Amino acid sequence: MRNIRNFCIIAHIDHGKSTLADRLLERTGTVEKRDMQEQLLDSMELERERGITIKLQPVTMQWTPPKADGPLTMNLIDTPGHVDFSYEVSRTLSACEGALLLVDATQGIQAQTLAHAVQAKEQGLTLIPVINKIDLPAAEPEDTAKAVAKTLELPEDDVIFISAKTGEGVDEVLGAIRDRVPAPEGAPGAPLRALVFDSRYDPYQGVVASIRVVDGSLPARAKIKLMVAGKSAEANDVGVLRPQPEIRKRLETGEIGYLVTGFKSIAEVRVGDTVTQAAGPAKEPLPGYREVSPMVFAGIFLESGGSSGGGSGDYGKLREALGKLALNDASLSYEPVQSQALGQGFRAGFLGLLHLDIIRERLAREFNLGLVVTAPTVPYEIRLTDGGTLTLTDPAELPDVTRIEEIAEPWAELEIICRSQDLGAVQQLIAARRGTFADTRFAAAERVIVQAELPLANLVADFYDQLKGATAGYGSLAYELTDFRAAPLVRLDFLVAGEAVPGLSVIVHQGEADRRARAVLAKLKEIIPPAMFQIALQAVIGGKVIARENISPRKKDVTAGLYGGDVTRKRKLQEKQKKGKARMKAEGSVRVPPEAFVAVLGQD
Ligand code: GDP
Ligand code: MG
Repeated sequence: MRNIRNFCIIAHIDHGKSTLADRLLERTGTVEKRDMQEQLLDSMELERERGITIKLQPVTMQWTPPKADGPLTMNLIDTPGHVDFSYEVSRTLSACEGALLLVDATQGIQAQTLAHAVQAKEQGLTLIPVINKIDLPAAEPEDTAKAVAKTLELPEDDVIFISAKTGEGVDEVLGAIRDRVPAPEGAPGAPLRALVFDSRYDPYQGVVASIRVVDGSLPARAKIKLMVAGKSAEANDVGVLRPQPEIRKRLETGEIGYLVTGFKSIAEVRVGDTVTQAAGPAKEPLPGYREVSPMVFAGIFLESGGSSGGGSGDYGKLREALGKLALNDASLSYEPVQSQALGQGFRAGFLGLLHLDIIRERLAREFNLGLVVTAPTVPYEIRLTDGGTLTLTDPAELPDVTRIEEIAEPWAELEIICRSQDLGAVQQLIAARRGTFADTRFAAAERVIVQAELPLANLVADFYDQLKGATAGYGSLAYELTDFRAAPLVRLDFLVAGEAVPGLSVIVHQGEADRRARAVLAKLKEIIPPAMFQIALQAVIGGKVIARENISPRKKDVTAGLYGGDVTRKRKLQEKQKKGKARMKAEGSVRVPPEAFVAVLGQD
């Protein structure tokens, strides 16, 4: 145990976490330089393409420091950086004794990074502040270091300056991990307690969990038990990732590795659960288990319509695809629904908009499905006149107004870090989204930390993009859910050519209904292609039209090819065209392109 160091990297997206991980793999000889691909740990195709880390990946490195008598085992867990995945970060922290706090010298510390760093400190981890990208001309290493040290109350001398790209300073990082991060503690002789901090499904092996052995040891083939779930299985294999799997006879106290179970679903091997041995089990599970609940819901339908034509085959494909994705993503939930306009589909729950976007893209790309994803919504709590309550995740299912006593919406507490010069714009943005301010404090290097509260619906819509716009990209955001609060909320429906499009319905605050309605209509006008007839677009609340737009008919001059003289011929053609238009109008239905459903998100 003396020779083990368990650490993770806390960083904002793009600040260089994966690049630093690459350098560490290289310097420790874990991966030969010729086998090196960029961002080696980001294995999923989508992760590479978008340059973001979605699933966390532990890797074991052996490093023999100069003049040392033996190698040191360094376990690194790469973590995702986006707000939607913060639960994955928090569980990583509890598997480590130390964290590198990596900050881009051209960007400064971001809100989410700060939130994670504070959490790491509270959990007793040693923080090593590292300023990255010092090779860039725009880098301000000294100022960034001062700000980081001050904000987190760390000595300025602790800061290490590196370029993950060139490798400068990386050896110093390795040294700091050895010298500053404490070796794991734990009771080797005690009954096994191992923390599950990730799990994935493998079609051949069953569920494979990433674990941190906290007490005792875990031999391969042992009968194991998950303490929270109360389920038993066998440890078919145990081992470590280097980054290829390396089978071990056992995992000892303080080690991080993988555990191959015979479980068929990751729902049985929940992150945060504790593994113990069936023979001589531990008495208490490890603390901190929490279930994540989805915060954004949307309908997923097929472009072809679930039931028409050859659609049922595609519906089966969609169901299978969601099932496959859910096998590896415990935070994705879904259930079948039937929509009049959109056919058979699913109502799915996500952690946030990025999560939704990633799932949508994976369905389209990996399973080749043309999809309609309806306007995302947050969950609402409906208190009914008969005393009951219900949680609403689909605006289309809002009960009749006469049955509703009150609608409550979720609120979030947020922390924003921005430049002092952008404070006004940020305050304006928050106020415009019905937010309230709790506190504003000035940090070093002209940075302000703003604490505020905001309805979650307004946060998930487009707040993040708006914030980026208002702060020239410098503003960053962390949030946490607080409670449900009653508000005058109504359902806003949309009609296209006189027909309701249920997938476009949203629940909005009365005071925001007008603005929202107009914005959506403008977007629809942009997106829906004109037809031979005029298309009416209407926004409706409780049957009352509150805003309308028209899409003018496409002009097609049927007489263009004729010379001026032949008037009767011209008139005949125009007559014919008129009839055609009337017929089309009667047959009527206008196709709403799939982009429209996503576009209604935007508020401005
Ligand atoms: P992550 O999102 O935190 O994993 O960040 P990445 O490691 O993917 O890096 C984001 C971008 O910054 C990539 O284009 C990297 O090549 C670049 N980058 C990372 N570290 C450095 C550095 O030290 N100097 C420079 N110039 N670029 C870097
Ligand atoms: Mg990365």
